[in-house]
Amino acid sequence: MSKMQIKAILFDFADTLIRTEKFDYDLCLKKTQESLANDNVTIPYEEFRKIYFDIRNRLYKEAEDSLREPEFCLRLTETLKHFGYSFKPKDAVIVRSADAFADAFVQMMQMEPYVPKLLQQLKTEDKYKIGLVSNFAYSPAVKKTLERFDLAKYFDALIISGDVGWRKPSLKIFKKALQALHAKASETVFIGDSPRHDIEGAKNSNMRTILVKKASINEDEGFGNPDRRILELKELPKALSELFYGS
Ligand SMILES: [Mg+2]
Repeated sequence: MSKMQIKAILFDFADTLIRTEKFDYDLCLKKTQESLANDNVTIPYEEFRKIYFDIRNRLYKEAEDSLREPEFCLRLTETLKHFGYSFKPKDAVIVRSADAFADAFVQMMQMEPYVPKLLQQLKTEDKYKIGLVSNFAYSPAVKKTLERFDLAKYFDALIISGDVGWRKPSLKIFKKALQALHAKASETVFIGDSPRHDIEGAKNSNMRTILVKKASINEDEGFGNPDRRILELKELPKALSELFYGS
């Protein structure tokens, strides 16, 4: 591979920068339902849960081809509509209950201890522009997780599907990230763990790609033909220098 200039690095969030294996969807949803109950929207949890997932799955099914992101608060208002409540996604009751989900989510996230130092090195020594591109229906959950681990300061742009309305692998969300960083695709490396969302999406956007994936996980999904493959994020500086100098 020929020598290339890398000026910008884009990271995926879940299972690339932050470990999510302690995420308990049920527990987060329970907090949502409790928050609603505190606002006198009282629905038994099992019924709430069932309708929530029916609606979530329907909304994603409808957006399968368009790759639009159906926002999280819309799921909640659609769920409540089923039980006879009429709210709008921006109503305080809804936002409070979404925040209850996010706050529980943030506490379940984990980070490898070397990550802040790695980001600091990339930003201050190597002078890369750094961005995040995440498929996440409720962006405060991602932003609060970055704050909890004091990582937000390393990012020049946070591009989250719940904010921008498009999901990876849509080219539109990758384009938004390049615009936010004032970077060219040819000078940008995307780092992620999903062969389809991250690697294929970024490759189709003409970026270089590095797949971060432990050997045991979803091996049958294939690798999406990244430029480099690493097992852990701490191998990133080495992989970047190989991309830079060729090998
Ligand atoms: Mg991921």
